[in-house]
Amino acid sequence: MTGPTEHVHIHAPLLLGVIGDPIAHSKSPAMHNIALEAAGLPGMYVPLHVKPEHLAEAVTGARALGFSGFNVTIPHKVEIMTLLDELDESAISCGAVNTVVIRDGITTGYNTDGIGYVRSLKEETGELNGKKVVVLGAGGAARGIVYALLKEHVSDVVIVNRTRERADELISILTDKAEGTSLSSASQDELESVLSSADILINTTSIGMHPDLDATPVDAALIPEGIVVSDLIYNPLETRLLREAKARGCTVVGGLGMFIYQGAYAFEYWTGVEAPVSLMHSAVLEALNHEHNPL
Ligand code: NAP
Repeated sequence: MTGPTEHVHIHAPLLLGVIGDPIAHSKSPAMHNIALEAAGLPGMYVPLHVKPEHLAEAVTGARALGFSGFNVTIPHKVEIMTLLDELDESAISCGAVNTVVIRDGITTGYNTDGIGYVRSLKEETGELNGKKVVVLGAGGAARGIVYALLKEHVSDVVIVNRTRERADELISILTDKAEGTSLSSASQDELESVLSSADILINTTSIGMHPDLDATPVDAALIPEGIVVSDLIYNPLETRLLREAKARGCTVVGGLGMFIYQGAYAFEYWTGVEAPVSLMHSAVLEALNHEHNPL
């Protein structure tokens, strides 16, 4: 039997990491180190605290040090685009990079957030083709998600954001990718009416994220019974939005799957080896559990 390393011809240990500011609480190292070990790939994935004023040096440094790639998180996802040699279509369309691959000294930026999210949503709820989707929020994460939803040929995407101009800006950026999908924005006042015909509601805002556990982006009474309700937040694993939606008979999907799959796609870009998704899932759960119950 041949091991995976023989297929990808990796000789030196793989150097991987995640750059961000702050970075100490990232669950990516736990997830990727388990994945490397399980795949039999010698290497290491490290958290790298990079301040914005050092971003360019960090990219040059990673290349010089022989890194095979790295993830990019807040606040560098947009700024890094100007510092890379090449950008994949996913990064251009999302306007942000969360994964950098370094091959033969060439840095290429990808975005795996949106496709990671859609993969987890499909896995838990089935095909998305023809569905009517309401997206709350129009920030960085929303952009990747709307891009990935368009690729799934959903019938409608309505974006509702506190700052409506931001929703309209997102629409103008993605409109030429919409093909058969109707892409529009709505005001908070119109939420009740747009939700009444929705199949899927997705919260991409940070409302309800730890430590604001009592906050929720929408009055539960407006959520039609039995639809799919999803939250990108994975800390807590079940937000107030999801708890209330569940009580209304909705199918709920949290943000953990998105986090795992954005990492799985990144791992596959770096290594050429299929990501051990279920092991990555348990590693993140364990790291989250440890954060809430440190010993
Ligand atoms: P962002 O670019 O800062 O966007 C935040 C969005 O939330 C904006 O639309 C903002 O509206 C809205 N918002 C924030 N506070 C609000 C409030 N009090 N009332 C109404 N709207 C509010 O952030 P992001 O990078 O898109 O991240 C958004 C969320 O997604 C975070 O909770 C993050 O943890 C989560 N996320 C999860 C994953 C995962 O792997 N599961 C990956 C990425 C992000 P305005 O435009 O009006 O400011």
